[in-house]
Amino acid sequence: MMIFPTLDSGNFIPQKMPVRNLITKEIHRGSKGGRTGCGYNTNIHPEHWVDDSGKVSCTKNGCKKKVADEQTIGA
Ligand SMILES: [Zn+2]
Repeated sequence: MMIFPTLDSGNFIPQKMPVRNLITKEIHRGSKGGRTGCGYNTNIHPEHWVDDSGKVSCTKNGCKKKVADEQTIGA
């Protein structure tokens, strides 16, 4: 049986690229093609959304960084 180094112990969280809304200029948690952390559906106006590597600036629930909310978003 092979033993691999425990680089990730089932706790790996993929880095998500935030998305920016070109209209409001706000950067939301989430990714293009899905929903933002605060619930916007980026498929409704896909031309309004671009991937962005900046910091999340949206202050709504789900996008705003809270302590210990990292595990509850996704799926
Ligand atoms: Zn948001």
